[in-house]
Amino acid sequence: MDHDAGGRGHLNIPVFLAKLDELTPVQRLVALWIFGGVALALVTWASVHFELNLATTAAALLIVIVLLSLLDSFVSSAFFSLIAILSLNYFFVQPLYTLDVSEVQDIAALAAFLVCSLTVTGLVRRLRDSADIQREQAQLLELTADAIIVRDMDGAISYWNRGAEQLYGWSRADAIGKVTHDLLQTRFPVPLAQINALLLDAGRWEGELVHRRRDGTEVPVASRWAVQKDARGQPVGILENNTDITERKQADELLHRSQAAFLAEAQRLSHTGSFGWNVVTGRIHWSDETFRIFGYEPAAEPSIDLLIQRTHPDDAVRVRETIYRAADGERGFDFEFRLLMPDGTVRHVHAVAHSMRNGSPDLHYVGAVSDITPAKEALAERARAQEMLDRVQADLAHAARVSVLGELTASIAHEVNQPLTAIASSAAAGVRWLRRPVPNIEEVRELADSIVSDAQRAGEIISRIRAMAARKAPERTLLVLDEVIGEVLLFLRNEARSRTVTVLQYTAPEAPQVLGDRTQLQQVIVNLAINAMQAMVQAGSSERRVVIRTLAADGTSVRCIVEDSGPGIPPEHIDRLFESFFTTKPSGMGMGLPICRSIIEAHGGRITVDRAGTAGGASFSFTLPAASEQI
Ligand code: ADP
Repeated sequence: MDHDAGGRGHLNIPVFLAKLDELTPVQRLVALWIFGGVALALVTWASVHFELNLATTAAALLIVIVLLSLLDSFVSSAFFSLIAILSLNYFFVQPLYTLDVSEVQDIAALAAFLVCSLTVTGLVRRLRDSADIQREQAQLLELTADAIIVRDMDGAISYWNRGAEQLYGWSRADAIGKVTHDLLQTRFPVPLAQINALLLDAGRWEGELVHRRRDGTEVPVASRWAVQKDARGQPVGILENNTDITERKQADELLHRSQAAFLAEAQRLSHTGSFGWNVVTGRIHWSDETFRIFGYEPAAEPSIDLLIQRTHPDDAVRVRETIYRAADGERGFDFEFRLLMPDGTVRHVHAVAHSMRNGSPDLHYVGAVSDITPAKEALAERARAQEMLDRVQADLAHAARVSVLGELTASIAHEVNQPLTAIASSAAAGVRWLRRPVPNIEEVRELADSIVSDAQRAGEIISRIRAMAARKAPERTLLVLDEVIGEVLLFLRNEARSRTVTVLQYTAPEAPQVLGDRTQLQQVIVNLAINAMQAMVQAGSSERRVVIRTLAADGTSVRCIVEDSGPGIPPEHIDRLFESFFTTKPSGMGMGLPICRSIIEAHGGRITVDRAGTAGGASFSFTLPAASEQI
C-alpha cells in the first residue's frame, strides 16, 4: 500500500514522466506520439535487422504498445496499434515492402494483433483508472487527523495512517503486523468479547476507549469500528477510526466538576442532602450535606445502621419500619423524624425518596433529606407567641370587664338592692303575720316563697357579676343571642335611667342559636351600649336613645345592630376606632372596641361601624355564624 514513491511510479522512467507532467496536454500528446513512434520504429528495425518472424515481432510490438498505454489514453493506444499493424504489414507480410496482403491467414493474423492490442491496452487502462481511484482514496485517509487502522480478524494491523502515527507516536513500520490492543494497551468500557459480539452482529461498534501512546501517556479516543467483508460475506478485517477526545474530556470534566460544586453549594444553602440506596447490593451513597445533617465525617461508610444510630430513640422503630417497607417493594417514602445528635441536641429532618430502576434489575432508591429544624423551631416559636398573645388579650379583656363593672357599681348595687329590699319587706310582713294571735301560716308560706325567689334573683345577679369579674378560660355553649342581650340590659337598666337614656330591644325569635362564650358576648354588648350612652351624654344630645336589634340574616348567621341617637362618628375617626388605645374620652382606655373585634372574630364573625345609623348617631353591627354552621 505504499503510494509515496514519487507520483506515477509504475514505469521506471521517472525523469521522463516528471517532464511529461510539466507539459500542456497537446504538447504532452505530441511528445508521447513521437516517443511511441520512435520506440515502435526501433523495435521494427531490430526485428528486420535480426530477421525475426511476424509472430515474434508482433509480440515485441505488443509489449511496447502495452507499456505506452500506461502513459496515456485509449486513443493513443489505438494510434500506436495502427502504426504497429502498418509496420508488420510493410516489413513482414508478403508481398514485402508494400501495404498489400496476399494471404488470408496474414489478414487474420493482423486482425488478431489489432484486437489483442486494443483489448490489452483497454484492460491496462481500466487497471490504471482503478489504481488512480485507490491512490486518491488512500491519500484522503492520509489527510485526516483521525487515526485510521485496518486490522485482520486476529487483530494484526495491516494499515496505519499518518493520523495514527501522529496520535500514538508509533510509525507505520512499527505498527504493521502488531496486534492493535497489545500495541496500544487498550482499556475497554466493557469486556472486549462483548464488543466483538456486538460488532459481528451489527457490523459496527462505537464507544470510548483509552489507548497508551508510545511515550507511555494515555489518550482517550472516540472509536468507531466497522467490519470489512469479502465477496462471500465473511468478515476479513476491521476498520477502526479513532478521534482524540482529550480536550472534550477535559471540558466535560470541568463542567462536571463545576456542576458538582454548584450542587454541593445549593445543598449546603438549602440544608438538603441527597442519597442513593441500592437495595440489592446494600450500597448507600450520601452527599456531603447528608453527612453534615447526620453529623458524620464524610470518611464514614454510609449504612442503615449509621442512620439508626443517629435517629432519636423515640423515632427509631418508625424509621426502621419505613426502611423495611421500602426494601420490601417499590414504595417510596416521605416522612419526618428526629435525630439525636452527639451533643444532645435534637434535629428534625424530612426524608423523601422514590424508587428507580434505571435500566438495571436492582431496586434502587434516590432521595433527599432536609434539615427542617429551623422551620420546626420557628413554628414552635410562633405557637408560643400566639399563646402569649392570647393570654395578653384575655388579660386585657378581663381588665376591661372589671373596669366596666367598676363603672356599673351604682347599677349593680341598685339591681342587688331591689331583691334585698323585697326580701326585707317580705320578711317583716311574715313576722307580722306570725305575731298575730292566730298566725296565718298560709300567708307566711307565700311570703317565704317570695323571699326564696327574691334571694335566688339576688344570687343570680351576683353570680353573673362574679362571672364577668372572674378570669376564666373562654367556654363555648349554645346560646340565644337575644337572651344574652336581655341579661346585659338588666345591668344597664339603672345605668340608662340615670342618664335619661331609653334602651329599646328588638328581638328576632327565629334567629338561629350561636355557639359562643356567654361572658365574652355580654362584654361586647355592654361595651357597645355603654359607648353609645357615653357618646350621647358627652355630646349633650337631647333625645337619648339606644336601639339594640337582632336580625336572623339568612339562617346561617345572626346579626346584631347597636344604634344610638348621639353625634355619630367624625369621618377622620372612622378608620381608627378599632385601633388599640384610640380614644376621645378623657379617662378612656381605647381598648373597648379592639376587644369587641377580637371577641367577635374569635367567634368566626365580623364587626363593622357606620358613621350614621337610622337612629341618627353611630351604628355598630356584628354578625355571628349560626351554631349549625360551626359544627
Ligand atoms: P374608650 O371607650 O375607652 O374610648 P373604645 O374603643 O370603646 O374606647 O372607643 C373608642 C372611641 O370610639 C371612643 O373614644 C369614641 O371616640 C368612639 N366611639 C365609640 N362608640 C361610639 C359611639 N356610639 N358614638 C360616637 N363615638 C363612639
